[in-house]
Amino acid sequence: MTYYSTNNKNITADFRQATITGQAPDKGLYYPSDIPVLPQALLNGLSELSKEEIAFTVIRPYVAGTIPDDVLHKIVSETINFNFPLIPINETISALELFHGPTLAFKDVGARFMSRCLGYFNGSNNQKVTVLVATSGDTGGAVANGFEGVEGVEVIILYPSGKVSPVQEKQLTTCGDNIIALEVDGVFDDCQAMVKQAFLDSDLHAQYQLTSANSINVARWLPQQFYYFFAAQQWRLDEAPVICVPSGNFGNICAGMVAHKSGLPVKHFIAACNANDTIYQYLQTGIMPEKGTTSTISNAMDVAKPSNFVRIMEMYNNSLRDLLVNLSAAAVSDEVTLSVMREVYSTYGYTLDPHGAVAYKALSDYLKINGGAGYLLETAHPVKFPEPVEQATGQQVPIPATIAPIMQLPKRSIAMANSYIGFKDWMMHRR
Ligand SMILES: *Cc1c(COP(=O)(O)O)cnc(C)c1O
Repeated sequence: MTYYSTNNKNITADFRQATITGQAPDKGLYYPSDIPVLPQALLNGLSELSKEEIAFTVIRPYVAGTIPDDVLHKIVSETINFNFPLIPINETISALELFHGPTLAFKDVGARFMSRCLGYFNGSNNQKVTVLVATSGDTGGAVANGFEGVEGVEVIILYPSGKVSPVQEKQLTTCGDNIIALEVDGVFDDCQAMVKQAFLDSDLHAQYQLTSANSINVARWLPQQFYYFFAAQQWRLDEAPVICVPSGNFGNICAGMVAHKSGLPVKHFIAACNANDTIYQYLQTGIMPEKGTTSTISNAMDVAKPSNFVRIMEMYNNSLRDLLVNLSAAAVSDEVTLSVMREVYSTYGYTLDPHGAVAYKALSDYLKINGGAGYLLETAHPVKFPEPVEQATGQQVPIPATIAPIMQLPKRSIAMANSYIGFKDWMMHRR
């Protein structure tokens, strides 16, 4: 298995190169040269296998020999050493809870897998790798935690001051010495712009071996397939599920669609979006609207140009007609999101976070028209978004015991003006 650039099939890389560089040199995304078809025996016997065995079998063809089996087995086991329960909310809708990892968001899986792969690839290298990442909240925490203490790798996180929740800020700023949090006097887009410019800066490249840790990196994107197999282990109905994914950059749902292409039974996929509805519009009209980003209460999905959508189109040979057979989308306003959180809490006693609530609405609307049953991906713990959750349910969300200790630790961040020059100057003189 190799990977080719979505801009040019002649630009290829193996898993190692694709992981280390993140993006193809022509700015395309790496896409697998072929999607493996899993043996029917494996697909039929999922409930008898361990999570580790499934994850190892699913990811092994993608790693394609660049990591020895024993090392890969260890990496996979460490990546998924927590629970992924499928919890029924009512007769037709369940929630696949992906928030039982160390930072309470689904991004833990991708970040843990990628950090360990990069640590392995860098073992024989004496230049330190610097992971540069901008975050609106969840990515930074997962990446910080995933890379904490990884030999030969340092992580520099840029986050918008005052724009992340208290739990998120602690997760960003209380990690080990190889994790550095820069608190930028600006918004997420400013942080993102600084990181993008840094990747184009030859002075920085001369001094650093830079890489990115967002979902365009194959090592963060592909292990997200695991969730859908773990859900299948717990799915009890004869008919395959409709799966609804709260989507921002579309990495998670794209991984699910890859799993489906490998043979996993899925009736239909729904991409649930908030006011940032570019893909919803595209699926309706065939025209990709040019829009800016709108701030919402499901802020991890505030993405105007979802980067992984090109991979989805690639999977369907750029045929929108073929894609529509498997994928629908919905757009849900903040107002409706809050009312869904309120209603699901009062009717079923289940607390959704805003991202899960957007998905609940999209899934229940779909099932009302089309019948069937399904699950949504509950991508973050409600405690990460306390304001809207408390507003909707009237209940305080208790801080889970697993993260209570970090709430006591002092925050360690470096204040940074909203200026690329200032950031670059700091980077050039810090070591
Ligand atoms: C990142 C994130 C999403 C969006 O996932 P994509 O893979 O970017 O589509 C949804 N919900 C939460 C809580 C997230 O952190």
